[in-house]
Amino acid sequence: MTKNQISQRSLLIWRYLQTLVFIFGLFILFNLIFFQKLGLTLFWNILIPVAPALLVIAVGVWRNVCPLGSLSLLPRHSGLSKRKRLTVEQSGALSLIAVIALLILAPLRHVLFDISGIATALLIMIVGVIAVITGFYFEWKSAWCSGLCPIYPVEKLYGMSNRFSIPNVHCDQCYRCVTPCPDTTPGYTPFTAANTTYHEIAGSIMVGGFPGFVWGWFQVPTMKEKLGLEQLLLVYNMPILGLVSTLLLFLILKRFFPTGKLVSIFAASAVSCYYWFKLPSWFGYGVFPGDGMLIDLSGILPEWSLTLLVCTTTLFFFWWIVFNKQNRNSWEIKPTYANEQ
Ligand code: SF4
Repeated sequence: MTKNQISQRSLLIWRYLQTLVFIFGLFILFNLIFFQKLGLTLFWNILIPVAPALLVIAVGVWRNVCPLGSLSLLPRHSGLSKRKRLTVEQSGALSLIAVIALLILAPLRHVLFDISGIATALLIMIVGVIAVITGFYFEWKSAWCSGLCPIYPVEKLYGMSNRFSIPNVHCDQCYRCVTPCPDTTPGYTPFTAANTTYHEIAGSIMVGGFPGFVWGWFQVPTMKEKLGLEQLLLVYNMPILGLVSTLLLFLILKRFFPTGKLVSIFAASAVSCYYWFKLPSWFGYGVFPGDGMLIDLSGILPEWSLTLLVCTTTLFFFWWIVFNKQNRNSWEIKPTYANEQ
């Protein structure tokens, strides 16, 4: 066994973990259809809010256990994938489509997905089918986990200051399905693969625009009225306005300051902004009372305790992503190259 290979015992533990997370995913899906309130809380109010912090601290763990990732790689693991290769252009185009999908889907939560368990379940199932199809045709993670997945742009942004390299439990050997590999390149950012105009646009939108998009997303209330043009304009208005504002700021600052530092500051701003609004809303102190609430502690917790909490998380994210000068490790340990054995 080379140092890049994982022991059988460790692999077995990861397989258990993947199975457990996959079953939990199915449990959420079941609840979204049959017990919508519980399903919506589990998915949108627990799983999704925990994800950004996990991506910041140990993105490799998520890359190993994500149920949609496992689903997409099932054809490859079982020897059924056609293992086609993407060109750099195609890879860039997928990255840009992933960013656009993220920006279209997230605001729809306010009028559709946060309210309807069936709509969320349908979304997950459609995304699951696309993930399997991409895994059936393309080599390893190239088309889904490192391509079309709408969470992938966020992984690149938030996971740029990763400290823990986790064993790669999907690729038994590296076939160079994507270059550079986001899983095994230390300090990977949305600009690391900026080989094409697609990569460049996708990277700029995510780094520059995402902090404003997150801010704008939290300025929109959940709307229970029937979905119409007016509601659609309302849910996209503020996120797009926020996105354009911070993107312009980023593009101007890029002319005067080193891009690497700016990328980390904008990444830390986006994730800090997310928890700045999300944590108070969990406990009944949100911008729109009741939206995204897990438990109402508004009459119990003093308001300053929430301020203290969000200041602490902000300091932590800036320290982790911007100021902590430790070595930036790859998300996962690189497996042995296939042609080296
Ligand atoms: S480790 Fe190799 S095979 Fe696996 S995703 Fe990265 S480039 Fe592709």
